[in-house]
Amino acid sequence: MDRAPDEPAKTRPAFARWLGTTNDVTRTFLAAGQIPDLINLAGGLPAPEVYPAAEIAEIARQVIARHPADTLGYGPIEGLPELRDAVAERYSSGTLKLSRANVLITTSGIQGLDVIGKVLLEEGGVIACQCPTYLGALDSWRSRMPAYRKLRLDSNDCDPHSLFAGAQFAYTVPNFSNPTGKLVGMAMRETLVDAAHRTGTWLLEDDPYGGLHYDSESLPHLIELSALRNPGAPYGGPVLHVRTLSKEVAPGLRIGWVIAAPEMIAALTLAKQGSDMCTSGITQRIALEALKGGLIEKIQPGVVALYRSRRDALCAAMAEHLASDFDWEIPSGGMFVWATARDSLLNTDILLKRGMEAGVCVTPSSVFDASGEDRRAIRINFTLNPPDRLREGVRRLATAVRALQANKS
Ligand code: PMP
Repeated sequence: MDRAPDEPAKTRPAFARWLGTTNDVTRTFLAAGQIPDLINLAGGLPAPEVYPAAEIAEIARQVIARHPADTLGYGPIEGLPELRDAVAERYSSGTLKLSRANVLITTSGIQGLDVIGKVLLEEGGVIACQCPTYLGALDSWRSRMPAYRKLRLDSNDCDPHSLFAGAQFAYTVPNFSNPTGKLVGMAMRETLVDAAHRTGTWLLEDDPYGGLHYDSESLPHLIELSALRNPGAPYGGPVLHVRTLSKEVAPGLRIGWVIAAPEMIAALTLAKQGSDMCTSGITQRIALEALKGGLIEKIQPGVVALYRSRRDALCAAMAEHLASDFDWEIPSGGMFVWATARDSLLNTDILLKRGMEAGVCVTPSSVFDASGEDRRAIRINFTLNPPDRLREGVRRLATAVRALQANKS
């Protein structure tokens, strides 16, 4: 006992208000990896067997020996100059002219989202957001308690121009969105870029899955379409392009970048300063060697072939076991299938719990909805598990669906 019985209890300062806006569904599925024999179809995790471990170990040994100050010391907040140059060069074309001043190296994609929120959002600011939305993005901006306008990009009624007007920024994942796996088509890409230019609203293009195409051609990045308005001039437009090496190389590198107008990169650098001071020099040097030495191009065909076969295995199992209860489209890239329940009353928050009792975990749609109201769909990941586990996971999920439906009637 550290206080006398007559001494009044001290009240500790309360936690910030935004913490009360989080949900326990997220905590539940993040803890799922610890449960033995649970088949995790919930996370957005790459297959560990595709990580180029031997190559990265060798590069790491060499870069630490050759560049001890860069790899083991503090580095510039914006990132290693050579890596910024390599990123600028990788994206530059006759139309899109980039230099080091357009590039901020980040501690993976999520830090890009976080610092963008920090520089653009006052408390209660407005985000025009592709809906449903990547949960990590909602989490990144939660402490600013933003108001969301929903961009339903595949609905005929979606009017980006009016939704962008007055918003602090717009957010989209045009290539194989998380959670739906959908590709935003060319006409809508052009409309989004036009809306950003006309309304003066920043447009955030988050592109972690751009390299994971299984049976579709790549469409131009929004930043390339934006550069078409002033071709060949140093890029100063409203698009911020966020990319990561997490899905194509390995998430443990924690390397990503933001490409944007120099004034935006300068502001983001100030925000990053108070966040982590600088991204790890070891992994920046590894990323530089991976970009320069063609490691991404070398491993990509194997990664794409593996993930395509896993997508096919998942969709075949879903067709066998879930077709009477859910509708879905086969995604042409990315990591997820988005399945919507035919019964509008099926509550996928509850299905998550029943699924875990049956030994499988999927992500319910409520966590991808800023208002938490969408309870009718699930996101299923196909990259982490081999085909036999995917099939067994779907079989368990179908058992959980039947149990839920039986309890209702
Ligand atoms: N954006 C989207 C849409 C994602 O799905 C992810 C990873 N799940 C990220 C950003 C960030 O990933 P990382 O921080 O590993 O780069």
